[in-house]
Order: sequence, then structure tokens, then C-alpha cells
Amino acid sequence: MLEEFMQGFASAREENLIRIKEAKDQGGKVVGIYCTFCPQEMILAAGAIPVGLCGMSETPIAAAEETLPRNLCPLIKSSYGFAVTETCPFFYFSDLIIGETTCDGKKKMFELMKEIKPVHVMQLPHLHNNKASLELWVNEVRRLKDRLEEELQVIISDQDIWEAIEVINQEKRALKAMFDLNRADPPPLSGMEILTAAWSRNFSSDKGEMINNLNGLVREIAHQPKNGRAKAPRVLLTGCPVGLGTEKVVRLTEELGAYVVAMENCSGYKTLELLTDTSGDDPIVALAEKYLAIPCSCMSPNPYRLELLERMINDFQADAVIDLTWQACHTYNMEAYEVGKLVRSKGLPYLHLETDYSSSDLESLKVRIEAMLEMIED
Ligand code: SF4
Ligand code: SF4
Repeated sequence: MLEEFMQGFASAREENLIRIKEAKDQGGKVVGIYCTFCPQEMILAAGAIPVGLCGMSETPIAAAEETLPRNLCPLIKSSYGFAVTETCPFFYFSDLIIGETTCDGKKKMFELMKEIKPVHVMQLPHLHNNKASLELWVNEVRRLKDRLEEELQVIISDQDIWEAIEVINQEKRALKAMFDLNRADPPPLSGMEILTAAWSRNFSSDKGEMINNLNGLVREIAHQPKNGRAKAPRVLLTGCPVGLGTEKVVRLTEELGAYVVAMENCSGYKTLELLTDTSGDDPIVALAEKYLAIPCSCMSPNPYRLELLERMINDFQADAVIDLTWQACHTYNMEAYEVGKLVRSKGLPYLHLETDYSSSDLESLKVRIEAMLEMIED
């Protein structure tokens, strides 16, 4: 039964591609997004399908490098490469792209992407818990609503937004429940399994179905008396986002006999504790408050990431932490210093890996991960 759920998650991309094409044929709208800062609730409230477009393949990078500098994060190059080579069907189907001024590379990439598709860029302030930041971000969420209404020719009511908020809150609860299963020792799910399930939500054309599948998986595992997995070192992954196609560190770690019990990154647990507060009067303010609390390294300072990481080390009983930085991602690279200090202060081995999407360094990554696993005390 677990296998059936996993196959469903693994094939979600292909299945949803067919559904999205059908929806487009019937006049439906698709909005492409690249970051967890994008308030997808507003896209759902506009009656459109949000799809995640973050590039997770090395293939289109060479084409991107004809325009972009080589010394740039592979996620940005891959994302732009898919756009410029017209090889991502989800990009092709997108009526509008939404970007944010997060890291420098991404925001400058969106300027170039405007030559290919309509792009709306939200100006993200980089300070949490600040009145001026919140005011700016509330205005940006309102501006997004205006752009969606204009571009998709719809009217978005407050009620539409509250309903979409409820859907995304349910999705977050379901994802968190799935991740939290792995607090158990041994963990019922491998790192590759959580990654597969979590990643599939980026392509889901039907959020209700995705939520049901996640809840079904959680129920299924809760009813299994014993998962039969052997005890093994428990590794927590933090750092840059990882998806299917860029899972080499997760895969190698598990091939070496450890479990990646959880991922703190934005493709993992980073936003799962953040639910939109539904007790206020204005759904736009409620959304802005939630999104401004995301502990991404593009925020400065970014203390909540360390707080979250420490909680996760305890809750998931981590034996070691791997911090993954994609090459030329300066913000995560810089934060590695503080992350390393925190992990070592808890008496755990810490490994900072800087790599790209290629397989050229698999051997050296393997040696370094192996050496870290040997440092774990029995
Ligand atoms: S790491 Fe930060 S900027 Fe990059 S996709 Fe995640 S939330 Fe967005
Ligand atoms: S991994 Fe780093 S450099 Fe790459 S898009 Fe995300 S924040 Fe920007």
C-alpha cells in the first residue's frame, strides 16, 4: 500500500501535465511560480492552477549560460534554461510567471525572462517583524491580486481568498503530518520518499486530491504496527532547495546506510509550521504576515532558520546535519557559518557541501558524507 501511494506521488508530474493541458484546452489558466514566497492562495483564488517551475535538471544549463553568467546558482540557470529552450511544458502552459526579489541572481533573471513570458515580480522586503516591511509586503500582495485580475480577466473576492487560504492551510498540515512521521526511530519513510511526496505538490492541478493522498499515506503508516526498517544514523538536511532531479546528496547519504529523516529547506519543512491566521478581517494582511515569516536566507537577519533548525534537530532526533549550498548561492553559503556553529554546539557532526547539478563530484561527495557518518557516536 505504501508503494501504491509512492507510485502515485512519483507519477504526479506526468499525470498532472495531461490534466493541465485539458484544463488549458477548456480555457483554464496556469500561473508559474519559482519560490515559496509566492502567495499561491491568490492564484487559487483567481481560479488558476499554480505550478512550480524551479529548474531541477542540468540539461538546460548550457543554453542558459549563453545569456547568464556561468558563475551563478544552478537552480537559476536551470530555470532560465528551461524557459529559453522551451523544453518545460509547465512553463509553456503558464499564462503568467510570478517572481520575487529574493536573491540577486533570481531577481535579475526575472528581468530577462520578461522577454519570453509575462512576468510579475513582487518586491520582497528582507526584514522580518518590521512594520515598514509588512506594509510594503501587504501592498505587494495587493498588487499581485490586481495583476492576476487584469491578466486572467477575473475578479478575486475576499471570500475567494479565504477559501484558498483554507486549502493551503490544509495542504501544509497534511505535509507536516507526513514529515512528522519520521520523528519515529527508525523513520517509516526514507528521505527519497519524503522528497518524492513533497515535490509532487508542485505540479498538482487538484489540491484536494493531493491533500487526500498525503492524509491517506499518514493514516496508512499510522496503522502499520512496525515498519521493519533497521536502525541507522539519522541525518537532517538543510540549505538550498532540493527536488527530484537534484537529489544526489539525499540519495548518496541513504546509499551509504543512513536515513535523511527530514529536510529543513524550502522544498521541505521550512514553511510547514506557518499557517495563515484566519481570525482577522483582511485576508491580504493575513497572507502577507505569513509569507514574511519564512526563514529563507535572503532575509537579513534570519534568526528563525536557526530556531527552526534547532527544534528539528531535537524533534527528529538528528545524529548529524548536512548543509547543502548550490554553487554561487551566497546567502546560504554565508549562513553556513552560523548553522555549523549551532550544530556543533549540540555535539553533532556538521558537513557543509557546496556543489552543483552535475554528477562530476559524486565520488568526492560520497567520501565526505562517509567520513561524516563515521563521526556519529553509537
Ligand atoms: S531558498 Fe528562499 S529564495 Fe530560494 S526558492 Fe526557497 S524560499 Fe525562495
Ligand atoms: S539556491 Fe540560493 S542563489 Fe539559488 S535561487 Fe535559491 S536563494 Fe537564489
